[in-house]
Amino acid sequence: MNTSEQAAVWSSRNSAELYGIDEWSNGYFGVSPQGEVVVRAPTSEGEASVSLMEIVDGLQQRGLQMPVLLRVENILDSRISILNDSFAQAIETSGYQGQYRGAFPIKVNQQSHVIAEIARFGERYNHGLEAGSKAELMIALATLTNRDSLIICNGYKDAEFISLGLQARKLGFKCFFVLETLSELQSVIECSRALDVEPLIGVRLKLSTKVEGHWSEDSGDRSLFGLNTNELVSVIDTLRDANLLHCFQLLHFHLGSQIPNIRSIRAGVLEACRYYIELVGEGAPLGYLDLGGGLAIDYDGTCSTNGHSRNYSVQEYCIDVVEAIQESLDQHQIPHPTIVTESGRATVAHTSVLLFNILDVTHFEPTAMPESLPVGCHEMIANLWHTLSVIRVANLQESYNDVIYYRDKIRDLFHSGDISLRHRVLGENIYLAALQKIAALLPQMKRIPAELESLPQLLADIYYGNFSVFQSLPDSWAIGQIFPVMPIHRLNEEPTRQAIIADLTCDCDGKLQKFATSEGESSTLPLHAINSGEEYYLGVFLVGAYQETLGDLHNLFGDTNVASVRINADKSIDFVHELHGDSIADVLSYVEYKPNSLYEQFRKTAEQAVRDGVISIADRQQMLAAYSESLRGYTYFEK
Ligand SMILES: *Cc1c(COP(=O)(O)O)cnc(C)c1O
Repeated sequence: MNTSEQAAVWSSRNSAELYGIDEWSNGYFGVSPQGEVVVRAPTSEGEASVSLMEIVDGLQQRGLQMPVLLRVENILDSRISILNDSFAQAIETSGYQGQYRGAFPIKVNQQSHVIAEIARFGERYNHGLEAGSKAELMIALATLTNRDSLIICNGYKDAEFISLGLQARKLGFKCFFVLETLSELQSVIECSRALDVEPLIGVRLKLSTKVEGHWSEDSGDRSLFGLNTNELVSVIDTLRDANLLHCFQLLHFHLGSQIPNIRSIRAGVLEACRYYIELVGEGAPLGYLDLGGGLAIDYDGTCSTNGHSRNYSVQEYCIDVVEAIQESLDQHQIPHPTIVTESGRATVAHTSVLLFNILDVTHFEPTAMPESLPVGCHEMIANLWHTLSVIRVANLQESYNDVIYYRDKIRDLFHSGDISLRHRVLGENIYLAALQKIAALLPQMKRIPAELESLPQLLADIYYGNFSVFQSLPDSWAIGQIFPVMPIHRLNEEPTRQAIIADLTCDCDGKLQKFATSEGESSTLPLHAINSGEEYYLGVFLVGAYQETLGDLHNLFGDTNVASVRINADKSIDFVHELHGDSIADVLSYVEYKPNSLYEQFRKTAEQAVRDGVISIADRQQMLAAYSESLRGYTYFEK
């Protein structure tokens, strides 16, 4: 089949399968017959499909250039509904006597529009907030209006934190202090006496249940957080002595984020229930059991326990949790508690997509190959040329060894001045042609030798993207997190290149080279050849959790442009919020420069050059205008 016939049979369906979009997108994204990624936004009248290219166009008309972090509000609302409805469903079918209350952990995405939307939409479910610091508690107090929603205070709490939470009690907020240490309890008791208000107290348990995945150290004896059994008993005794045991109403545990295996979650719940039963026996009223976070999402679409995925759905999570609590407590005739979860990742990850364009591509293939070897070539170049001509499936390893040997010889000869730059270039081109040929034949081998396995990756194109990994996808760099990446258009065409993606930073860690594809994890991503004069846009999906504030200013690439959209049932798009990213002046001031002084310094340098007769006054004016313009400009590549 020639390539034009192949292109004719390739459809958007093939692209959807290749990039696994139906597996990881949870139905929120898909590929249209026109070959573009669409967001399938849940609306009051069913699903509305809108192309991301249409949104990109709308953003650019509004002056928001790439890279842009796009948030789709409909998806955030849908996630909150799914979590609450799934618990309601599980509670109803199992005849559980308690309720469910969600609390969104602010640390997972603190951006004010996100928190405001969670509070607004979550109100119908009494969805609350979890705060891990004073600053986050202040966000919660200013944002929540519903007094039936919970505010859960985790983290280390000083007297100021505690008195703020107690003041909130006076206002009627259901604000819980989850004790992380014993010393905190003393402060809580003292502050509550001083302010004459009773606290709502919870305790964070250090469970021995171990989980798999990146966050396994959040649980177990050496976990940084929570009280051990000794300390738990001290809390009970101290509260009883202070006549405050009736304030001990919540039991909390958090096994870590992105828990891959449902069995660990169930084991954690069962262990926590043992404590719950004992504490009720000790006279603590309890009434709330808080499971923390950990509800995982399927980043790579494998539905597995490999760490980038999970082996359960939200619905299965809810049913398992509800039934485990019910079974444990029914044996002791203990009333069913209100179930609390602090699901962050599973609430916000789907809502955001990072969109960027490709600026340039490097290929690892010969730039030119002669029909035959020019006369007067060095023997080593002739040997390499001969090796190229005899490469067969039967001799791949041997050919590879020869190719590398002759390449090194040719490089040595250039070093010692025995061949010219032009002949060295010829040698490099033959070398690349030989590697390409070996790589193309590799799939026909019965067993690929270890040395040759990485050849396709070594020959992959480098696509340079207009973004910073450190600013926008820090977890990809810090913990090897896989995010789904794919082109958002041209999906009717077969992607014929294999590539890795480099960012704009001058850092060799600034790249994406682990991808989820339908065939499993891959070190390269299939992409389309760039058409000259045409933009090529990629999207990185499921980036709504943790990435925004963990991002840093490496190379002084600042916050990207951000846009929140809401898609209406008639497929019209409301651009709800537009936020221009950091300007160069902004990022310079973050590292203590004063943009005005920089400008003044530069003006002096230019003025001196005028006085020295090096430049004209007109030159000076042009330079200063450009400098000033740049200070106001975007930190990313601008057209
Ligand atoms: C980080 C954290 C969460 C959020 O966990 P997810 O896995 O993102 O849902 C919840 N509770 C506590 C105490 C946390 O530290």
